[in-house]
Amino acid sequence: MAAVLAARLCEKVRQSMEIEFNSITFWTDSTIVLGWINTSPHLLQVFVANRVNSIQELTNIENWRHVRTQDNPADCVSRGVKPQELLEFEMYWSGPDWLRESIESWPEPLVVSRSNELPELKRVIFANTSTLDSEFIDLSRFSNLTRLERVIAYCIRFINNCRRKEDERLSSSLSCDEISHASLLLARLSQRQSFSEDLVTLSKQGQVSNKSKLIKLHPFLDENGLIRVGGRLNNSDYVYEKKHPIVLCSKHVFTRLLFAREHKRLLHAGPQLLLAVIRENYWRIAGRSLARKVFHQCVICFRNCPKEISPVMGDLPKRRVTPSPPFYVTGVDYAGPFLIKDRQGRGCRTSKADIAVFVCFATRALHLELVSALTTEAFLATLKRFVGRRGKPAQMYSDNGTNFTGAYNELSKLADFLQNKANSIVKAIENKGISWSFIPASSPHFGGLWESGVRTVKYHLKRVAGNALLTFEDLSTLLIEIEAVLNSRPMSPLSCDPSDLTPLTPSHFLIGRPMESVPDRDYTAVPTNRLSHFQRIQQMKGHFWTRWSLEYISELQKRQKWTTQQGLLEANDLVLVKEDHLPPLQWLLGRIVETHPGKDGVARVATIRTKQGTIRRSFAKICPLPKCIGSNNS
Ligand SMILES: [Zn+2]
Repeated sequence: MAAVLAARLCEKVRQSMEIEFNSITFWTDSTIVLGWINTSPHLLQVFVANRVNSIQELTNIENWRHVRTQDNPADCVSRGVKPQELLEFEMYWSGPDWLRESIESWPEPLVVSRSNELPELKRVIFANTSTLDSEFIDLSRFSNLTRLERVIAYCIRFINNCRRKEDERLSSSLSCDEISHASLLLARLSQRQSFSEDLVTLSKQGQVSNKSKLIKLHPFLDENGLIRVGGRLNNSDYVYEKKHPIVLCSKHVFTRLLFAREHKRLLHAGPQLLLAVIRENYWRIAGRSLARKVFHQCVICFRNCPKEISPVMGDLPKRRVTPSPPFYVTGVDYAGPFLIKDRQGRGCRTSKADIAVFVCFATRALHLELVSALTTEAFLATLKRFVGRRGKPAQMYSDNGTNFTGAYNELSKLADFLQNKANSIVKAIENKGISWSFIPASSPHFGGLWESGVRTVKYHLKRVAGNALLTFEDLSTLLIEIEAVLNSRPMSPLSCDPSDLTPLTPSHFLIGRPMESVPDRDYTAVPTNRLSHFQRIQQMKGHFWTRWSLEYISELQKRQKWTTQQGLLEANDLVLVKEDHLPPLQWLLGRIVETHPGKDGVARVATIRTKQGTIRRSFAKICPLPKCIGSNNS
């Protein structure tokens, strides 16, 4: 006020004196006033701002200077002095001594204090309003509900701290209440996003519309603004949360995170238990499928119970659908070992023998040979016996022996034999003009033909021989009998023609009639004309081939299993590599480097990089890990 008076007085004097003033200086002992005068009026409260405004209009800001209180002549007026003292009060009448000297000797101008320390400043408040929706926090960035809850709890604490005075602010670790409050807030957020219309109708009319999904739950809004199930358990003794669970939509990310956390908390509970526990607090729409999904997508649960994928059953290889003489294309495998004794009677010594199973690719005819030792020589001798009786095959296929890796001692010996001797065998055989191929490791179904041959041989041998110790001769005889039985098995169902009593069997291709049937008399009575008999046999063989293509091949058309494509494996997929003799938890983890599509464009084999090196496996031996829950957008 005083400063304004001074400014107005100065103006009045200036106007009435009609003298040109060189300079005017205003003195004040108040630093606050000086600060105000140096401040823009818009930052000040209205009363002060108006006065500062008029001072700034009437005077020049630089003309205002500070005087110390003891040098201020006006000070005695405001404090009051006795009249006698006033008479002798030099400063009141003539001002401080330095005023009569030159400007240079006046006190140094005071540095005006910073404007934000001044009283009567306008308080500037930044109001930042935001609604709690998906833009507030991107829930899909979280894969862990606990972390999400803590983030929300810290946000809430920050907001509350901003409202509090400095000494009341919280900075310790989060309390239980804060986290459960955050959890409720998340539930409310998820309801707001999933049931926005129902929330509006509930708050306005107290009930949901007839078309709502929630109508059967008889929902209501609780004091926190959460939709809860009204239900029919009002009279029960259950706790409030169980009587009136919070409604959640299973499609919302919060529900998904909740299920995933509960699944882990319940030590990887199955879908049923998971649902039951969550039902204590929450009511989920379509929760059953979510529970199942969470269960199936859990990597740990999957590793305990892996599932392989099966690509659609492959087209049959050319060698299996091209008419060719029996054993023209042959697969070979070993079965065993079997114990044999060196002679009949007491005191005999036992030794081991294996069975070489030869399978014709075109007719599925079997040829069995007993092999006394796992040596190249023994195998080549076996092959000689086979070739001598069945003719030289053009192409031979075999397992490369790693199927037996890690199995018990005898089988691993067999594996060693097949692996280590393979090269010398292949060399010896290829010298004879037979080409040799291997099927992929550890995928016996690729050699499905002879694997089933081996299995059926064992089946019959077990039932016939039991644990009896046989000599080499006995076992060979038995094997040939088994061979005959197996070669008499029907390849195609009996035809619908009632007059046609014999099914087509492999032995038809070998000897022109079923092995097990007794040759009938007409047939043994050899016609005198040999040529016509030969022609007749040729004719019969032709007839068999016709039936082969009619009946057998059309049977093969059907894909017995793996009829549908069950999802594709791609490079970079993370997979478990199945090992038959190990529990699933010890299966190797690997990443697919590339897949190898067959002629029909469907891949069934993949190259996989594991910690034990790069391996090649068929899809049946691979279990793809489920894709991460977080990355899944349902
Ligand atoms: Zn799990």
